[in-house]
Amino acid sequence: MQPSDKALVPFVSVDHMMQLIHHVGLSDMLRGLAGYIADDFARWESFDKTPRVASHSAEGVIELMPTSDGETYGFKYVNGHPKNMSEGLQTVTAFGLLADVGTGYPVLLTEMTMLTALRTAATSALVAKTLAPKGATTMAMIGNGAQSEFQSLAMQAIAGITHVRLYDIDPAATAKCAANLAGTGLHVTACTTAEAAIEGAQILTTCTADKAYATILTDNMVGAGVHINAIGGDCPGKTEVAPAILRRGDIFVEYPPQTRIEGDIQQLAPDHPVTEFWQVLTGAAAGRTSDKQITIFDSVGFAIEDFSALRYVRDQIEGTAFYHPLDLLADPNDPRDLFGMLGRAKEA
Ligand code: NAD
Repeated sequence: MQPSDKALVPFVSVDHMMQLIHHVGLSDMLRGLAGYIADDFARWESFDKTPRVASHSAEGVIELMPTSDGETYGFKYVNGHPKNMSEGLQTVTAFGLLADVGTGYPVLLTEMTMLTALRTAATSALVAKTLAPKGATTMAMIGNGAQSEFQSLAMQAIAGITHVRLYDIDPAATAKCAANLAGTGLHVTACTTAEAAIEGAQILTTCTADKAYATILTDNMVGAGVHINAIGGDCPGKTEVAPAILRRGDIFVEYPPQTRIEGDIQQLAPDHPVTEFWQVLTGAAAGRTSDKQITIFDSVGFAIEDFSALRYVRDQIEGTAFYHPLDLLADPNDPRDLFGMLGRAKEA
């Protein structure tokens, strides 16, 4: 027997997500996601917020990232395993779900590995557009792994970046990133040191994966006036930016209770001042106030960005073929007769 419509939940597979990205166009999708994220950040106070629920192991972390605006509930399952790459596996994989708060019924289930790269890049670029020095054209991209092309292209689409300077400890990663960015209109320079990569850059992105207190940017590397987009330090014991730089700059974060545990600021005193980025968007807090100021986005990735991305996908797939109806929910004829529903399998 076929399940009824009540049993079916739209499911966006990786293949469908890739088709959707091509259909919308990557730049338009990054801009669209940034718009949804900005809209949700502007109504920040209407969300249930909690630091993500993290299960740590020696190899990595598995996290659940839930939030709700009272009408819709969303969560993402995501891992972070830096050693995976050497085994031919992704460092980060994810899937996520939106549900209707009124009934508790899921309304969307989707892959989120691609979508996380897009939403992370869209958030970075939205923040850079707001905080980076005006007229910034050049970004250093340190860490040329899975996120790096998305980061570069979002900075191009949203923050006006025209030049990227790549560096990775693994030259093969830099070569891969440079090849993928060929033909995108970005001027790409492959560098052999982090110092070379940051030459002339107004935006410094660190997006490395190492479960360690790494120092990708040392104090003497960073001059006045730059914007730092620190993506890779997103877990306890995993950092990228020297504490001295953090102390010289003004730090902007997503949700302080989560960033204090996971971000680069875990290296600072627990009461070190930070600004919540959503307040800059609403005008409640100042962003960049001088040419000399170092602005630092200590990104860890917050549930509201995933919620925005899930909302965006739900809206985009409506009326398209970019999903399967998934038989996810039981739908007995009589809601109390779940047992009786078992008979349907016999009939079939
Ligand atoms: P990845 O494993 O695909 O790539 C990481 C790259 O960093 C690799 O190419 C590696 O060679 C390079 N690297 C490691 N140490 C380095 C160093 N000292 N200097 C230069 N390069 C170095 O990982 P990914 O999917 O691109 O993710 C990168 C990081 O971003 C991870 O730590 C991940 O957890 C984090 N991340 C953060 C967010 C967020 O919202 N803040 C979202 C997604 C991923």
